[in-house]
Amino acid sequence: MKKKLVIFSGAGISAESGIPTFRDQNGIWETHRIEEVATPQAWASNPKLVLKFYNERRRKILKVNPNKAHLEIKKLEEFFEVVVITQNIDDLHERAGSKNVLHLHGEIFKMRSEKNSNLVYPTKNDIKVGQLAEDGEQLRPHIVWFFEEVPMMEKAIEIVKQCDYFVVIGSSLVVYPAASLISYVPQNALKFIIDPQIPNHGDKDIFVIQKPATEGIIELATKLKKLMTKLSLLK
Ligand code: NAD
Repeated sequence: MKKKLVIFSGAGISAESGIPTFRDQNGIWETHRIEEVATPQAWASNPKLVLKFYNERRRKILKVNPNKAHLEIKKLEEFFEVVVITQNIDDLHERAGSKNVLHLHGEIFKMRSEKNSNLVYPTKNDIKVGQLAEDGEQLRPHIVWFFEEVPMMEKAIEIVKQCDYFVVIGSSLVVYPAASLISYVPQNALKFIIDPQIPNHGDKDIFVIQKPATEGIIELATKLKKLMTKLSLLK
């Protein structure tokens, strides 16, 4: 049976595809304030601005492609049972072919009724004020905003609790509750972190790969494959 590998990705994995992260220099929050575009309060007071922000994100993401890191993660499915738990709203893991992707913070190519979170629709186009769901309510981006519940969190915790390997790629680990997932990794599982600027993680037992995602993922794959060979020789 294949070992279970969880990839926990953040904005950094898509940086080399040309999507800015949130907190780096030139990151999205350099040009937009969180409160103005990514909170329920922002939606209530200025839906037009919120839609403009996400419409721009969608158009941009449509133009970029998965990078080597997304593609290498797909390839790891040959050796491991891989689940990608991503904080990203882009679809680059899916476009790279990853089979099991769980989006903690929603998906840019989906929209939903503002009153009924079960009425979800695919979209590649802009969402407009006045565009309604079938319940007659305004459509909003299918994004989990700051101060909103993270509905996929429970499912993510269950997956993490079962893993043999846990890999953080490109996350500053400051957005909660997502960042708390690392605390659910079983004690005997191996943990890795890939990031050119390793964030504070408060974890002594984590293997650090201080590189951009596209380089770090190759190092990780080599390490994991060596480990697998060793383990099979021990049997
Ligand atoms: P973040 O911006 O807080 O942190 C990004 C991390 O990526 C940093 O630690 C940084 O050092 C690292 N990084 C930068 N370049 C990298 C590279 N080439 N390779 C690997 N790592 C690199 O992002 P976060 O932790 O994901 O947190 C917050 C929120 O950002 C999430 O809720 C997510 O929804 C949102 N977000 C998503 C996207 C996207 O969908 N692509 C883009 C921006 C922000």
